[in-house]
Amino acid sequence: MSTKYILVTGGVTSSLGKGIICASLGRLLVARGLKVTVQKLDPYINVDPGTMNPYEHGEVYVTDDGAETDLDLGHYERFLDIKTSQENNVTTGRIYYDVIKKERKGVYLGKTVQVIPHITDEIKSHVTKLGESENYDVVIVEVGGTVGDIESLPYIEAMRQLKYEVGRQNVLSIHLTLVPYLAAAGELKTKPTQHSVKTLSESGLSPDILVCRSEHPLDNTIRSKIAQFCNVEIEDVIESLDAQSIYEVPLLMQKEGLDKQVIQKLNIETDKPDLEKWIQFVDRLRYPDKTVKIALVGKYVEHHDSYKSIVEALIHGGAVNDAKVKIKWVQSETLNTQNIDKHLNDVSGILVAPGFGDRGIEGKYLAVRYAREQKIPFFGICLGMQSAVVEFARNVAGLEHADSTEFNEKTPHPVIDLMLDQKEVTDKGGTMRLGKYACSLVDDTRAAVSYGKQTIDERHRHRYEFNNAFKKKLTDAGLVISGVNPERDLVEIIELKDHPWFVGVQFHPELKSTVYQPHPLFVSLVAASLDHAENKKIEESAVAETPVE
Ligand code: GLN
Repeated sequence: MSTKYILVTGGVTSSLGKGIICASLGRLLVARGLKVTVQKLDPYINVDPGTMNPYEHGEVYVTDDGAETDLDLGHYERFLDIKTSQENNVTTGRIYYDVIKKERKGVYLGKTVQVIPHITDEIKSHVTKLGESENYDVVIVEVGGTVGDIESLPYIEAMRQLKYEVGRQNVLSIHLTLVPYLAAAGELKTKPTQHSVKTLSESGLSPDILVCRSEHPLDNTIRSKIAQFCNVEIEDVIESLDAQSIYEVPLLMQKEGLDKQVIQKLNIETDKPDLEKWIQFVDRLRYPDKTVKIALVGKYVEHHDSYKSIVEALIHGGAVNDAKVKIKWVQSETLNTQNIDKHLNDVSGILVAPGFGDRGIEGKYLAVRYAREQKIPFFGICLGMQSAVVEFARNVAGLEHADSTEFNEKTPHPVIDLMLDQKEVTDKGGTMRLGKYACSLVDDTRAAVSYGKQTIDERHRHRYEFNNAFKKKLTDAGLVISGVNPERDLVEIIELKDHPWFVGVQFHPELKSTVYQPHPLFVSLVAASLDHAENKKIEESAVAETPVE
């Protein structure tokens, strides 16, 4: 079978959840035994989102091959249980960068280089290159932005051309729109969808299927009205209601027949979908046995998308433990010695988040100290791990002014320092220690027990690292080094012994947690947090039962 391409565009407004719809359709097709990947085309001029701050763009998702990408790739990996790579995320910046490099080399010698055909050709070649790279049955191509935006135009045009190049029978166009409810009129309104489809069709890419986001069910009258005005069959009008959890969306889409319509139109023969494991997972989310509260301490807590993969990994880890994880968002900037107890005394686990820059850093150190002293399960990720090392150095190992040189270049005890190969780096884009690196685990440590193996690999995104000059001093004081990168002897995991669960990791485990393969450290953290809550309850009831003399 030649590779089929499903182009997904969005209209009316942004934030309709195109990424989740693509991931859900991907899950449904994978469940039918197809080999599927999803690609995101982003119409902005940054070469990648690596240089944007989380307020601008949410989390930067890092792939095994070290690409800094859009957070939708996280959804693709979590839903489809696949690995993505640089090729799964292409931006306008990258397209232009590549075209201009070619122009300088003389590849287009004698020609005027233009949006059409050079930019559109480059876009198409990225799409088909991905399809051919692993002989995929289906590539779902999510076109970022909203139809009608100036910057989306070259993509829509490229997609139109693609239809002719790979054969119309191999391409399907899905358009995601909004059907708003006007309370004053007491009605759902189809006009925005009609306009959006009209705009798309004017560019030559009429939709084959419409996925309509709505807060209310679409009855048959509305469906046939949309079908009639937008030139599709009534079965091709798919309702997408708000779901309780993003993980319910594949099941809702299956109920609406999205996958059935897709394979029919693309003429694909498949097995029956096997969604048993997915349904079990969703059941666990719907009916958890217990709840556990874990604090997420960071500086972007008002903007939950900044920690997207951590939130999802906690959900996966919770489901394995039959528990719902309630996240308590704690702004590290507001923490001080007076209020720390008030903020953290009701949680059963504390996670200190990754980050860059010194805003809120002292609050992170305080949160680590609180977790260490109160023996609350602690998980430090990247900057969170570095914070744990600094706190331990200052308050346990007696290095009073220990710090990371990211925050104090002149510290007498630089326990966290710039990596050697980072010292000369001046460019900001794509220059950190990025992507997959191996890590050897030390026997009988918390990490080795959680992973149940000796060697693992995890994804990185940082410039600073544990300074090996302080290894002896800190381990003598009781710090356990439980994971090391074998090639460069870099400390990747630290732990504490006389603590129920205290783990800091230099990498980003959250990026590899999927529905079908929940990350072992998140599973273990949630289990430890549940134990902590249980023990606290026992202690409290013992205190309550102690007779007053
Ligand atoms: N700012 C730290 C570094 O660059 C931590 C990075 C992170 O948390 N991702 O090493």
